[in-house]
Amino acid sequence: MPELRQNPATKEWVIIATERAKRPEDFSSPGSEEKPEALGICPFCEGNEDLTPPEILAYRTYGTKPNTPGWWIRIIPNKFPALVPQGNIQRSKQEDFFRYMDGMGEHEVIIESPKHDQFMPIMEQKQVEEVFLAYRERYITLSQDPRFELITIFKNHGASAGTSVKHPHSQVIATPITPMHIRNRLEEAMRFFDDNGECVFCVIMKKELAFKERIIFETDDFVVFVPFAASSPFETWVLPKKHNASFQSTTPEHTKELAYVMKTTLNKIYKSLHNPDYNFVIYSSPCREKDLEYYHWHIQIIPRVAAVAGFELGSGIFINTVIPESAAKFLREA
Ligand SMILES: [Zn+2]
Ligand SMILES: [Zn+2]
Repeated sequence: MPELRQNPATKEWVIIATERAKRPEDFSSPGSEEKPEALGICPFCEGNEDLTPPEILAYRTYGTKPNTPGWWIRIIPNKFPALVPQGNIQRSKQEDFFRYMDGMGEHEVIIESPKHDQFMPIMEQKQVEEVFLAYRERYITLSQDPRFELITIFKNHGASAGTSVKHPHSQVIATPITPMHIRNRLEEAMRFFDDNGECVFCVIMKKELAFKERIIFETDDFVVFVPFAASSPFETWVLPKKHNASFQSTTPEHTKELAYVMKTTLNKIYKSLHNPDYNFVIYSSPCREKDLEYYHWHIQIIPRVAAVAGFELGSGIFINTVIPESAAKFLREA
């Protein structure tokens, strides 16, 4: 059972991932030769369904059986989960001081295509729509579980973004806590609302649209831009124009447009920066705070073109060597 532990000095929670635990010595030896992928077998490819845990959900051709070929989207539990669905949400204390709890949660993998060499920037539009419809479906289902406070949907592409698995996939993690990182964002947004009577994200969008120089493109329902204080080169935000705190508010039609917007944005990054590693995260309000007036769901895309070093780690201040206006112009023209 993994464990969630809280740092008493910063109030930040950490997952002590026993399911994926390595021995300290493993960090000093090469290892990983025994992974199926290293032998040329990909557990996410169609036909290899028996190499993964049984599927939670799949979009598949009518009449085909679960855990067999015939699917175009497949969702499975992560084989090495950071959090597990068992356990309880009671907090405990060690030495009547150090707070911890069971590492309870849900960790799923969304396999985005039966094909190994498809990835989001160059996938067919229809397939990207199916991926985002699957995100929406899992988000809605998991947010109804009273044990979960936050649903995080994210994608790691490439080794420096945290994955060695090439087969296109994204992940969903449902946690029983709202971490400080999110709590701080919510509180700042709430303070802004108290002072100004407006959602800070709605104002950012209005100002960016007026200033124009950091806009990459817009559609009827979404704006894509490099934020004024981007913390890393080519950091990009996707904001829905209509105010809503939760990703849950997206309709299927809206979700298809989002898929187009994400594919277009990722394709610009793919072409202009030559397939860099990247992460994206869907930021949404906690499950039981879905109607907040002061928070606005959005997607943050971070191409991993610069390494985080000691100064960032120590000070929390990021050094961005690309001027946001230039990054936006570069991506706009890609
Ligand atoms: Zn594969
Ligand atoms: Zn808003």
